[in-house]
Amino acid sequence: MNYKALYRKYRPQGLEGVVGQEHIVKTLTNQIQNQRVAHAYLFTGSRGTGKTSIAKIFAHAVNCETPINGSACKTCATCKSVASGEAINIIKMDAASNNGVDNIRNINEEVMYTPAVGKYKVYIIDEVHMLSTGAFNALFKTLEEPPAHVIFILATTDPQKIPVTIFSRCQRYDFRRLTMPEISGALKKYMELECVDIEDTTVDYIARLADGA
Ligand SMILES: [Zn+2]
Repeated sequence: MNYKALYRKYRPQGLEGVVGQEHIVKTLTNQIQNQRVAHAYLFTGSRGTGKTSIAKIFAHAVNCETPINGSACKTCATCKSVASGEAINIIKMDAASNNGVDNIRNINEEVMYTPAVGKYKVYIIDEVHMLSTGAFNALFKTLEEPPAHVIFILATTDPQKIPVTIFSRCQRYDFRRLTMPEISGALKKYMELECVDIEDTTVDYIARLADGA
């Protein structure tokens, strides 16, 4: 049986599928369309607001060879390698378990090499506030003069813990908690697609418990 958990099945594949965060989606889409992407982004916001999902979609879209209206085409060689999980240009690191200066030094060495395929190497560092002081200092060195083919996306639930030096090098995006209508609207759509009959009051109850995430 080929069962895929619903959260994986309905995880958005493109920026157009993201629920909420319209201001962020619009800006990032424009940047891809105009080929004016930055080298460092800071995504802040509480858990479950889409920081990592949008980071992954963006990392994919900037590497797409023939983006359509700011979204990945899903048919070029790069898109196919992302779909099959082979995308070596998108590197995700969890700073909660890799917070040392050596972890960042490894990245600093890697970024010198141009990507084997695609335009950009994209480093997504989750829970970036967990980095040690030494690691932040090492990261700052690369953020000061990032190679043209590198993009950093730093994500955090706790922006107060990010050094001001890092802040000053990043474009900051604040992810807001989703509203109840946004959550229940998305849930209703998924239930329809799954042919599940569910009462509105039940959906609204779940949406309330989701608490913006
Ligand atoms: Zn593509």
